[in-house]
Amino acid sequence: MKPSHVVVIGNGIVGAASALHALRMGCRVTIVDPEPPGSRQASSFGNAGWLSSHSIIPPATPGAWKKIPGWLWDPSGPLTIRWRYLPRAFPWLMRYLSAGWTYPQIAQTAHGLRALLRDAPDLHMDMAKAAGVPELIRKTGLLHAYPSAEDYQRDARLWNIRRQEGITWEDCSAPMLRQREPHLEHRYQCGLYVPDVGHCTNPGAYVQAIMRHVLISGGTALRASATGFRIVDGRLRAVTTVDGEVACDKAVIAAGAQAKMLANTVGDQVSLEAERGYHATAEVPSVGPVTPTMLMDQKVIVTRMTTGLRIAGHVEIAGFEDAPNWKRSEILQRLLVRVYPALNGILRPEQIQVWMGRRPSTPDGLPCIGPSRATTDVIHAYGHGHVGLAGSAHTGHIVAALLTHQRPGIDLTPYSPQRFG
Ligand SMILES: Cc1cc2nc3c(=O)[nH]c(=O)nc-3n(C[C@H](O)[C@H](O)[C@H](O)COP(=O)(O)OP(=O)(O)OC[C@H]3O[C@@H](n4cnc5c(N)ncnc54)[C@H](O)[C@@H]3O)c2cc1C
Repeated sequence: MKPSHVVVIGNGIVGAASALHALRMGCRVTIVDPEPPGSRQASSFGNAGWLSSHSIIPPATPGAWKKIPGWLWDPSGPLTIRWRYLPRAFPWLMRYLSAGWTYPQIAQTAHGLRALLRDAPDLHMDMAKAAGVPELIRKTGLLHAYPSAEDYQRDARLWNIRRQEGITWEDCSAPMLRQREPHLEHRYQCGLYVPDVGHCTNPGAYVQAIMRHVLISGGTALRASATGFRIVDGRLRAVTTVDGEVACDKAVIAAGAQAKMLANTVGDQVSLEAERGYHATAEVPSVGPVTPTMLMDQKVIVTRMTTGLRIAGHVEIAGFEDAPNWKRSEILQRLLVRVYPALNGILRPEQIQVWMGRRPSTPDGLPCIGPSRATTDVIHAYGHGHVGLAGSAHTGHIVAALLTHQRPGIDLTPYSPQRFG
C-alpha cells in the first residue's frame, strides 16, 4: 500500500511528536505552521518543563465554584477571569465546574490521564535521544511543597486518587525538606517527593530539536496557516491554507489553543479555551530548587532550565488575543525572591525574561485525540491543557497508530473529540 501523505497542522510539541512518530511508521509528512518551531507564541516554548506522570488531577476540583468571586475580583490571583471575557468563557466555565463537581468524577478523569501520562519520562527520553538532545530530559523526580501538614491534608483525597492509580511518593517532614531543599523558604513545612518522573530543561529547544530531526528524516515544513480541509466522498484530498492547498490523504490537527476553528470544519464542536499562564526566567547562579518544585499554595512551579531559573504558572481566562498582563510576571518574580530568599539582592531586572503562553484547555482536563466526525482521515490531537508537554510523547504514538490503521494500545474513549456533543 502506498504510504500516506500526512499534513500535521501545528509545530508545537504535540505536532512535533506526531510528525516524528508518523515518519517512523513510514508516512510522508508535511508540517504546516506560520511560525518557526520552538517560537515564543506556542505554549510549548515557555512551560515549566514537568514530565509529571502523576499530574492526573484536572484543574477544577470539588468546591471550585466557591472560589469564583475571588477569581473575578482579584486580577493578580493565581486564577483570574477577565470581566469582559466572562460572557464568552461562560459555557466553558460551566462545563469546567461540572466536570470537577464530585470526587468520583475526578477519579475517572485521573484514570484517563494516567493512561496517557504513565510512561511520559521514558517516551520523552526516547524522542530526545532520536533528536540528539538526551541531555534535555532529566529523570530525577519532582517535589510538591506545602506550607503545613494541614494544607497537605486538604488535598489528601486528591493524593489518594493518585495512590489508587499506582503513583508512589516519599513524604518529607520539615527537617527532610530543609535537607533536600536548603534554599527553600522555611515557611514550607511539608513535602512530597515523587521519584519516578522527570523534567525537560529547555522545552523550546526540545521542540526545535525534534523538528530538526523530522526534517533531516525526510519531513517537509511549510510556513503557512491552515484554514480547513477539502473532503470528497468522506475522504481527505487536501488541507487548505492561506497560500493554497496541500494535497494529502491524512491530516492531524495539532494547533493547540487555536484548534477549535479547524475542528469545527470537520464537524466537531469542541469546548476549548486558551488558559493563559506566565513565566519569569532569571539568569542566576546556583540559588533555587535542587529538584523542580511546585509551591502548592501559590500554584506555581520553579524549575532550573538551561536558560536560567524559571517560575511558571497562574491561570488567566481572557481569550486568545487580549494583551498580556505583565504585572503577573512581576508577581512571579517577587514570589521567586520570597520563596528563595537567597536570591534577594542578586536578581536584577535585566537578567529576567518574561513570557505569556496559552494552554489549550478543555473543561474536563482531558485532551481531544481521535478521528474527526467528517472523516477518519483527519485526526484531532490537542487540548492537553496543563500536561501537554508530558502527554505529547504518548499522543504522538497514538496519532501515528491511527494514521496507519494500527491499534493505539489505549482506550481512546476518554479523549473523544465528540464528547462535547
Ligand atoms: C505557564 C505554563 C506552564 C506549563 N507547564 C507545563 C508543564 O510543566 N508540563 C506540561 O506537560 N505542560 C505544561 N504546560 C502546558 C503545555 O505547555 C501545553 O499543553 C503544550 O505546550 C501544548 O502543546 P501544543 O503543541 O498542543 O500547542 P502549542 O505549543 O501552542 O503549538 C500549537 C502550534 O499550532 C500552530 N497553529 C495554530 N493555528 C494554526 C493554523 N491554523 N495553521 C497552522 N498552525 C497553526 C501555532 O502557531 C503553534 O505553533 C504549561 C503551560 C503554561 C502556559
